[in-house]
Formats: sequence, structure tokens, C-alpha cells
Amino acid sequence: MTNIRFKALEVTLSRKRISLDLPKEKVSTYFGELTFNRDAMREFLTREAYQKLIDVIEKAETIDRKIADQIAAGMKSWAMSKGATHYTHWFHPLTGATAEKHDAFIIPVEGGSAIENFQGGELIQQEPDASSFPSGGIRNTFEARGYTAWDPTSFAFIMDRTLCIPTIFVSYTGEALDYKTPLLKSLSALDKQATEVARYFDKNVNKVFATLGWEQEYFLVDAALFKARPDLSLTGRTVFGHASAKDQQLSDHYFGTIHEHVLDFMSDFEYEAHRLGIPVKTRHNEVAPNQFECAPVFEETNISVDHNQLLMHLMEKIARKHDFQVLLHEKPYKGVNGSGKHNNWSIATDTGINLLSPGKTTTSNFRFLTFMVIVLKAVDRYADVLRAHIASAGNDHRLGAHEAPPAIISVFIGSQMTETLNEIEKQTKKGKVNANGFNLNINIPKIPEILLDNTDRNRTSPFAFTGNKFEFRAVGSSANCASPMTALNAIVADQLKQFKQDVDKLLAKNIRKDEAIFQVIKRYIMESKNIRFEGNNYGDEWKAEAKKRGLSNITTTPPALKFLTSKNTIKLFEDLDILTSRELIARYEIQLENYTKKIQIESRVIGDLAKNHIIPIAIRYQNTLIENVKGLKDVLDSKTFVKLSRNQMQTIKEISEHVEEIKDKVADMLEERRKANRMEDMEKQAMAYNQKVMPFVEIIRGHVDKLELMVDDELWPLPKYRELLFNK
Ligand code: ADP
Ligand code: MG
Repeated sequence: MTNIRFKALEVTLSRKRISLDLPKEKVSTYFGELTFNRDAMREFLTREAYQKLIDVIEKAETIDRKIADQIAAGMKSWAMSKGATHYTHWFHPLTGATAEKHDAFIIPVEGGSAIENFQGGELIQQEPDASSFPSGGIRNTFEARGYTAWDPTSFAFIMDRTLCIPTIFVSYTGEALDYKTPLLKSLSALDKQATEVARYFDKNVNKVFATLGWEQEYFLVDAALFKARPDLSLTGRTVFGHASAKDQQLSDHYFGTIHEHVLDFMSDFEYEAHRLGIPVKTRHNEVAPNQFECAPVFEETNISVDHNQLLMHLMEKIARKHDFQVLLHEKPYKGVNGSGKHNNWSIATDTGINLLSPGKTTTSNFRFLTFMVIVLKAVDRYADVLRAHIASAGNDHRLGAHEAPPAIISVFIGSQMTETLNEIEKQTKKGKVNANGFNLNINIPKIPEILLDNTDRNRTSPFAFTGNKFEFRAVGSSANCASPMTALNAIVADQLKQFKQDVDKLLAKNIRKDEAIFQVIKRYIMESKNIRFEGNNYGDEWKAEAKKRGLSNITTTPPALKFLTSKNTIKLFEDLDILTSRELIARYEIQLENYTKKIQIESRVIGDLAKNHIIPIAIRYQNTLIENVKGLKDVLDSKTFVKLSRNQMQTIKEISEHVEEIKDKVADMLEERRKANRMEDMEKQAMAYNQKVMPFVEIIRGHVDKLELMVDDELWPLPKYRELLFNK
């Protein structure tokens, strides 16, 4: 008999450090060398084409065919100079991964030879055979065509000798089938509304963009052990596994020295990331054993989202080279911390001002306060929209568990800001606003020094103000940031629009601008008080308190997703021209289906593993015990036998009980799955998987994990938590 676990462990234990051949030069010498960035554009494009492309990027101008051909030719020469042989449109379909279909540059010419060719048309638009991508019923079979269209605002790049062109992906009838399309629309809506409001304070502002700096958490696991765990390979998480005697309780991993094998991996993927222009900057050990984090410097949101997608892909690829597997799942291991992806978000003007950063003058602080309060009010009104956009089967395990924010959306702003807002609330309506400026008779000018001191932190909040940005912490580690960022941009854009209307109404009554703004933010502060929470978000008291306040606490995906199609959400996205109700319904269906399929796969994996891996081993071990007991009976007198076989008899009995329970529950689970599968209504089906199938997953696990503690270690077929979490 071969125990796959021991074979895997042998490989793991004989792991050698692989030799790394990284360049010795400064990072700045190769940073972005695989992107068609401005330097490359300048070198490979005519002056005319270059200028036009810049206008397209900065002013969203359209491109004519002639210029497109010129840009394509320049891009092709650049890509070939870097060894590229193929090109692809790179997009983010709603599967969650990125998609690409490579085409070679070469076309045959007469006489049996070939030339490299790449035209403007191929750059701008492609028709991938898209019928297998999720579309939520938008494309029926005879309009199965979707097309990809170039997004010139994100640099093209080279990966695996292929020129990758970032694109959006839409159906033939124009509906978005991807994450990027609504993201771009939300950024443009935010730009429009925020610019108007920013101009109350400074007429020089012509553009506002959202900035995003994500922090990517992940686990590493030895590749051989990973392969010996079918659950990890098929579902991204361990469906069985008893807690290790030691895991994170000593907090000795967090910020600890990085193991050399891990550091090699990190250095290697950081090198590749830098070549692709991804400004990764921070790396460290996280709280759980074998958990790590990587974070870049923030960038414009669309670019930052692309970079995160690219980095996740890169990490997985480079990890394989180092005999690691990257786990991006939100909760690969029960009982230890899960992985999130904090989305640090702010808004900045083309005049170089971070609108969420307290300034040094009264005016700049008044501006800061205005934008900050608008975000609060937006989250208060649309908390459910945010919740819907972080929902996933994986995140269900993480939210509300070990050191992760709960599913209740609230905002932390810190004691100093709280004091300031309370102060404003107390101001009487009139008389406090000084006529000759922004002297609001409150201590706003004191904010900067205090806020820049980072001690005022609350790590338990799902959405925290951290001095000059908001940190959306409830986002799951495997998520495409485009989804939560689209939602956040949208709700803030909507609130900005509302704010302008509210202020303009007062201006029409001849109220001075400062006072009008002050009155509106004061009202917003009072109206949005419920969403503010400064205490411990992990505690049960908060759940009770949140309930009293009427805040939602939706702990699982199907009901959270339902908000995608609520009247409020549809109105929000339609008014801002980000998504239509048809597109939202399609997204809802796609995500429900995705959820259902994931739970279905997990449930099947559990059934298979329990029946084919666990039960036979448990019985084999039980037989050894039975043999042993029989032997004892032969050699001992009956009184001694009864005394000395007691524990073994008990174990034999318990194994049988667990085995029986597992068999019963697997059968019951199968029955529930059958029932769910027969359901026509996707919503009911997802709920059935959530309410009827999922509970068995935990019950069966409980029995298997007990068996793991009883059965001879030599027989146990699945790598154990201590092996998965501590080998490097
Ligand atoms: P921490 O949250 O660990 O204290 P930092 O405050 O340095 O760390 O920043 C965390 C992340 O926030 C980084 O990815 C950083 O790039 C990002 N960040 C900082 N400023 C902004 C901003 N104005 N907009 C968006 N992201 C930002
Ligand atoms: Mg952080």
C-alpha cells in the first residue's frame, strides 16, 4: 500500500533551495520594461500617433483607423523587440479569472514564407468565441457573439512572449459581460460628480480620479502536499482537517523573519511584477502560519485593478516554479485567519489634491470634511450595495470569523474625527458660520497633526478611515477588486450628485456657499450616525447593537447578492449609467449560479473523500484494533481482558459510530443536492444549497476530524494541518 501523504511529505522534506538568477541592477532600470508605457510609446510611435494616444488616454478621445494602424504597428515592433510572438486581448470575464486567447503575429505570404502582421483593427476590437463565458442569459445561443474592445488607459504588457492588450468585454448588443466595463463607467461617473463638488472649493479642478492601493493576503503551501489534498486542488480550501496542536496562538509568525524559500519566491515574483510595472512595495508574514501579504503603492483605480489581477496570476505561476502553491481562497483552513484584500481607496484631483486628506488651511479642511462626510452618508445609504459586492462562497467563511470583519457594514472614523463631527452636530444652525471665510468656529484646523499620527486605528472595522483614505477591509482575497470598487465609486458618485443638488437648492435661496455646504454636511452627519461604529466589530455586543440600529447582518452569499437587483440598486446604477437593470439581473444570476456550483463541488468532494479516502482507512484501522482485541482475549484471563481492553473497545465503537454517521450524512446530503438540482428557480436553488446542503458539510467534517485524531497517523491519507501550515 502506498500512502500518498507520506510520498508527498518525502518530497517536501527533501526540498532544496532553488537557485535564483535575479538581476543585480537597481529596480528602476527594469521597472515597467514589459509594458508599453509612455517611454515605449515615445520610442515606437510617430509623434502624431503618440500625441493622439495620450489624448485618448487623458481626454477619452476616439481614435480613427489610420492612427489605430500606426499605434498597432508601433506596438507590434515594440513587442517583437521584446521577443513576443503572439498577441491577445486580455479581459476580466465574470468567471473571476482573466481570459486570453492568443493569436500569432505571423501570417503566411506567397512563396512559403511568413511576415508578422498586426493591424489597428486587431488592436481595437476582437471577437473571441465567447459563448462559454457566463452571461446570465444575456446572450442566447444565436447571439453568442461578444466582443472585446481595447482599453487604452491601461498599458499593454508582455507575458509569456505574448502581447496582452487590456480590453473590456461586451455582448454583441452592448451589455457588459465583464468587470472592467462597469468599473470604467463608475470611475467616469465619480469623476463627473466629484469634479463638480471639488469646484465649490477650487475652480481649477477639471478631473477627479479614484485611487486604489490593495493589500493582497495569501497562503503558500508546499506543492507536493497540495497535490495530495484533492479538496485543496478542487475547491481551494481544506474541507477536512483537525486543528494543529500549534497554529497561530503564539502570534509568532506575524511580521516574523521570512523563510528563505518564501523569500526566494517573493523576490522572484516581485521582480516579474516590477518588469510589468506593478509597483509592489511591501511584503511580510501574516498572522496565520504560512500566510503572507503583498502590497503595492497605490495607483489610479483601473490600473490598480488590472495590476491586482495580473499579480494574482503571476504569483500562482511563479509559485509553481518554487514548488509552492498559492492559496488565494478566503479561508483555506478552518480555525486560523482567513485572507482578505484590503482595498485602500481615495479620490484625488488633477491639481494633485487628495480630497480625503485633511489640509493645512481652513479651506482645505472644510473641503476634506465635506468629502469625508459625503462618503459616510453614501455608505449609510447604500451599505447593502457594498455588502452585495463582496459576497462570495469563500468570503462567507471569512466574514465574522477569526480576525475578520463581520458581515455588518459600518464605518470607523477614529476618535478625533468623531469628536469633530460631534462638535459640528452641536453647532446651532445659524450664527456660527463666519461671513468672511470658512471660520466655522470648530477646531477643524487641528485635524491634520492628530490624524497623521497613525495610532488611531481600529483593525476590526470593515470600512475604516485611516487618515487620508478609506480602507475597505471586507473584500475577499480572491476577489476582483473591480467589483467592490465599482460599487464604492457608484455610491459615492450618487451621494456627490445628491449633495450638489442639496447645496444648489440652498444657494438658490441666497444662502452663502460656505453656509449652504455646512448646513448640508451637518445634516448628513446627523443622518448617517447609525453607520458609524468605533468599538470592537468582532464582539457579539456589536451584533446586538447593529440590530437595534437597523443595520443588516447578512452572513451568507445568496441573500447578500439579492441586493444587486433591489429597486435602490437598480436606480443607483441606472441613474449613473453604470449598469442597466438587465445587466444587474444577469450579474445576479451569474453569481448565484457560481455560488451554487461552488457549493455543489465542495459537497461532492466531501462525499467522495469521506467515502473513498476516510471510511476505508478508518475501517482498516478499526480492524487492526479488532484483531488486537481478539488476540488479547486469547492470551489474557477474562478478568484482565475486560480491564485492559476497555479503551480499545471504546475506540472500536466510536469509529463505527463516526463511520455510520458519515455514511448517513453523505447520503442525506446527496438527497438534498438532488432536490436542489431539480429546482428551476436559480434563487431558490442557491438558497437550497446554502440552507440545506451546506450544513452537512460542517457535520460531516466534524466526524472526519474526530476520526483523524483516532486513526493511526501512518494510515491517514490526507496531509494534516500541521504539515500544510508549517512546511516551507
Ligand atoms: P497600513 O494600512 O498598513 O498602515 P499604509 O497606510 O502605508 O499602510 O497604506 C496601505 C495601503 O494604502 C498601501 O497599498 C498604500 O499604497 C495605500 N494608500 C496610501 N495612500 C492611498 C491613497 N491616497 N489612495 C489609495 N490608496 C492609498
Ligand atoms: Mg491596511
